[in-house]
Amino acid sequence: MNKLVFATNNEHKLREIREILKDKFEVLSLDDINCHEDIEETADTLEGNALIKARYITEKYGCDCFADDTGLEVFELNNAPGVISARYAGIDKDSKANMKKLLHELEGSSDRKARFRTVIALIIGGKEYLFEGIVPGRITEKESGDEGFGYDPVFMPEGYDVTFALMSSADKNAISHRGRAMSAMIEFLKNEE
Ligand code: IMP
Repeated sequence: MNKLVFATNNEHKLREIREILKDKFEVLSLDDINCHEDIEETADTLEGNALIKARYITEKYGCDCFADDTGLEVFELNNAPGVISARYAGIDKDSKANMKKLLHELEGSSDRKARFRTVIALIIGGKEYLFEGIVPGRITEKESGDEGFGYDPVFMPEGYDVTFALMSSADKNAISHRGRAMSAMIEFLKNEE
């Protein structure tokens, strides 16, 4: 069976995609190919960072690969935090500090429109493809809920009156940016021979 590396060690993401692609591809993690180095994400766009990761794996390990990158884009803040969403407040993956900074930046603002955007870069047979998934919504005035991770307690998807952090993971996955980007790639892969 064809092998396809997913540039992640996130078990949750891996389980999901393995199940979906099980008849067509053996999906390998970074651990599976013994890649333990930190791949620096130095681009200033989500597309750029996803491509950096996918190209690194393909060039160094010689395998077909895909990589994802996600950002929260807030309209009033010129699409910040965007590509620096994980380290908006300075420290990597400090969600509490990131949300505090975001709520502070939006204090008194009536326009709280935002969206999560995921980009997937796929390199297969030497060709590069990009897929995108977007979920529109707004930033709430305060945090609520404790499911999920990252900015979930302050992000309310359009058409709902609860934040992502108040939704079950199944409900969130069904409409999420990552889910939508994955679906776009999976549709493409299903037709690949
Ligand atoms: P990554 O590219 O998947 O690592 O995402 C980068 C950052 O965006 C994360 O560290 C989170 O701060 C934020 N983020 C990504 N996806 C989500 C989500 O589904 N909910 C909340 N925050 C997210």
